Amino acid sequence: MGALYTSAAFWEYAKAQVAYADILLAKHSELALSLCRCGRLHPCDDRQHWLRMRAHFGRFLVEQRYSSEVQQPHPPNPTRSDPSRPDDLA
Ligand SMILES: [Zn+2]
Repeated sequence: MGALYTSAAFWEYAKAQVAYADILLAKHSELALSLCRCGRLHPCDDRQHWLRMRAHFGRFLVEQRYSSEVQQPHPPNPTRSDPSRPDDLA
């Protein structure tokens, strides 16, 4: 009962799913050229499945992170190197 998508419980669930997907993706990483660690062709069915799961649940984590803590690693304005900039601020 309650909004599933906005609840903290769902965020925790999504975070757990992403963490679990990361573990599975590590197990199904590329061992050699076009060879998964599980012995099948890379990317194998498991890897493709968990990549989808990770993208699906990771989306919610990103949206939550953007809405909760708004901090930009880079300043929005790049360094202006205009030599003929008027000093209009007295
Ligand atoms: Zn695999």
